[in-house]
Amino acid sequence: MQTLDKFNFKGKKAFVRVDFNVPVDENQNITDDTRIRAAMPTLKKIIADGGRLIIASHMGRPKKNPDPKLSLKVIVNRVSELLGVDVKFASGAMGEETEKMVAELQDGEALLLENLRFYAEEQGKPRLPETATDEEIATAKQEIKAAQKEFAKKLASYSDVYVNDAFGTAHRAHASTALIADYFDAEHKMFGYLMNKEVDAVDKLMDNPARPFTAIMGGSKVSTKIEIIENLLTKVDNLIIAGGMTYTFSKAQGGKIGNSICEDDKLELALELLEKAKKNNVNMVLAVDAKIADSFSNDANTKFASVREIPEGWEGLDIGPKTAEIFAEVIKDSKTILWNGPTGVFEFENFTHGSRAVGEAIVEATKNGAFSLVGGGDSVACVNKFGIADDMSYVSTGGGALLEAIEGRVLPGIAAIKG
Ligand code: AMP
Repeated sequence: MQTLDKFNFKGKKAFVRVDFNVPVDENQNITDDTRIRAAMPTLKKIIADGGRLIIASHMGRPKKNPDPKLSLKVIVNRVSELLGVDVKFASGAMGEETEKMVAELQDGEALLLENLRFYAEEQGKPRLPETATDEEIATAKQEIKAAQKEFAKKLASYSDVYVNDAFGTAHRAHASTALIADYFDAEHKMFGYLMNKEVDAVDKLMDNPARPFTAIMGGSKVSTKIEIIENLLTKVDNLIIAGGMTYTFSKAQGGKIGNSICEDDKLELALELLEKAKKNNVNMVLAVDAKIADSFSNDANTKFASVREIPEGWEGLDIGPKTAEIFAEVIKDSKTILWNGPTGVFEFENFTHGSRAVGEAIVEATKNGAFSLVGGGDSVACVNKFGIADDMSYVSTGGGALLEAIEGRVLPGIAAIKG
């Protein structure tokens, strides 16, 4: 497989798909530029080689072209500052003007294309009025697929090389994340550094992990994690179940859970997962006690209770101290660790204890040589909040893409390059 390091970009046009979908406030100021900074090593390498850089990204979910509130123009200055080059801006990803700008790019110069999703072709989803009939929808879906290919082909025609550094969209088969790769031979398509790190981290976890391998699944609901849990049950030695899911498992096993969050239609499933764990020799570690509250608020009255005996009017908002100790023991003995989802309502300071205990145990295991990966929105927020992100082996930027990879799915953006 071609790599960024092996390739000399001198005089070459490189189309680099990044994820610059950064949050902006009402005055169009960037509130968090992490995603821009994350792609810098790739962009800088290409510029340093004397390459001609075409940067492409999406932003938000535009419904029309143009959609001024979602213009990437707002990031041009920040990208220029970080890259150390005056980045030009093409006010559309298509059109004669853009083609001219692409053609005139010189060695060491950079051009940012306007939001790719201004074009419905990028995602391959038709934009139809709500009144559209089934027949119109079916026809439009067919048409857009053909148009999407043409769109990808046009984008590909801008450059000699395709680089994908947008792991966050790797689970989408969009024009610029997957289809475009068909127009480059194996020597001329590659992952960017960020994408490579993400792919390596997932591979480390899913292929031949050092053992024991422990996954900590938290968050609110079983229903959003079923596929991940099922796939992990074929991979891990220990599966720690935390967060709101705790109470669905507890109720399924006959526990009284008071007002705790619970998915009554998933009780059967919880028992099946426990059964499957037993069959696969996976040590499923469930909470034994909880920090319970008399309302869903940071200022609620609290006490500790068994997860099987939560009184009416009370709800579990974090794990209790006994559970924290049990989880920490398992984590500290592990050699590979995946953490997805907080153990409690970590947004409330009074219910961060469990997530902190898990985080600290992972820090210790990592210091002792374990490989630890944290991923999926809220766990990343957690490690950032606790100031321990740098103590993890890897904190994924991927969100949905990471979760799909852990579910065992092939990500189109990865397959398009790996073949
Ligand atoms: P997820 O997006 O599925 O990872 O869920 C993260 C959310 O789960 C966070 O917003 C937490 O506040 C929430 N959560 C964790 N534990 C609980 C709990 N015991 N009760 C209610 N919500 C919870």
